[in-house]
Amino acid sequence: MLVSSSHIPYWLQVLLTEKFYNACIIHEEAKKNEKNVYCLDCCISLCPHCLPPHRSHRLLQIRRYVYHDVIRLDDAGKLFDCTAVQSYTTNSAKVVFLNQRPQTRNFRGSGNFCSTCDRSLQDPYQYCSLSCKINYLLRTTGGLSGYLYECNYLPLPDSDDGLMTPDSVLEPAGSNRTSSGSGGFGGVDCRTLACTATTEIVRKKRSGGSAYRPACRPACSPVSEISASLMNRRKGTPQRAPLY
Ligand SMILES: [Zn+2]
Ligand SMILES: [Zn+2]
Ligand SMILES: [Zn+2]
Repeated sequence: MLVSSSHIPYWLQVLLTEKFYNACIIHEEAKKNEKNVYCLDCCISLCPHCLPPHRSHRLLQIRRYVYHDVIRLDDAGKLFDCTAVQSYTTNSAKVVFLNQRPQTRNFRGSGNFCSTCDRSLQDPYQYCSLSCKINYLLRTTGGLSGYLYECNYLPLPDSDDGLMTPDSVLEPAGSNRTSSGSGGFGGVDCRTLACTATTEIVRKKRSGGSAYRPACRPACSPVSEISASLMNRRKGTPQRAPLY
């Protein structure tokens, strides 16, 4: 599959030739024994039950997309220059294929094609997979120098799915409570003022011009009293559960 293996580091050779998602022979009897993790330090594929002794090693999660092995673009980019390799989005993660996929038809029309296997690609991309880019580099430059990155730390992303959910739930709930509280108070205050103003006008009409001045003071002071009592009531019950 690869043009030459002499210029490819061993971990990369194995990564691109290993068959993932087969059942682990060591853990044949166990559930979830698909080999979906690659250890870059030991250059072997692992099932979840094989993981404990490798926890401190650099581990690469292998995923499946349309029945083929993919890795997250984030992970791939730490190991290899993925420029111009077509990426796909699956489960809100960008992924790249490890290897080229068999094609049903090999027609060449106008458009954009993989520089190695002629697969039709979206516009700015030049390679359908990591191995097609590696093959191309070996054919044209004879090596991968400058395209491989030194990566000393590559943990499995097992916790990030679990962390994202509570965070995204908590934030809107907190801001919601704050805004509905202040909004509610503001609403009450406005309505109280409008009501007082109406009363004032009515009184003014009924009692005539002479009653205008005294009517103003009583109309004004109750408003501030009401506001104050409302504010106190609000302040007294901050522990109230937010409405859902
Ligand atoms: Zn290992
Ligand atoms: Zn295993
Ligand atoms: Zn290709």
